[in-house]
Amino acid sequence: MFSGQLPPFFDPRKYADQGIELQGQTSVGNLPRLADYRDSQDEVVDVALKFGRDEEGRQNIAGTISSKLTMPCQRCLEPVTYQITAKTNLMMVWTEEQMKELPEHLDPIMVIDGKMPLADLLEEELLLALPLVALHEKCPNPLPNEQDSDDGGIEKPENPFAVLAKLKRQQD
Ligand SMILES: [Zn+2]
Repeated sequence: MFSGQLPPFFDPRKYADQGIELQGQTSVGNLPRLADYRDSQDEVVDVALKFGRDEEGRQNIAGTISSKLTMPCQRCLEPVTYQITAKTNLMMVWTEEQMKELPEHLDPIMVIDGKMPLADLLEEELLLALPLVALHEKCPNPLPNEQDSDDGGIEKPENPFAVLAKLKRQQD
């Protein structure tokens, strides 16, 4: 069992055979695909994963990966922070054939024999667990046009978050 310090790489087949449990923490800043979440880079990522086999003998990775991520609210564009918890249950597959044979209700992870970066797994699972649309339950500062939509469409100065969001969309 690894505790505290997480290994940078995991060996899927070996870990499953040995029933390895990973428990520890890293930070959002260590996950390159989450670099866009600039306000969240110091947030802790809690990892509790068990490598083993399911009832049918398939090698799997199960557990949770959780963190907090701050992103612009799609309504008011002010930051909104989400507690993200990825409930992970992935079946290891080594080939496209194995992936096709996997029952539909199971999620595959394509693995190789040897070292795989743990960060790839963590960021993928966190990204999949993000809300589709980020919204405050109640926006702290409703946009002026929500209070008064009768302004005849006059151009307003752009909110800096809106500009950022737009730039980000263009990059994508
Ligand atoms: Zn909002």
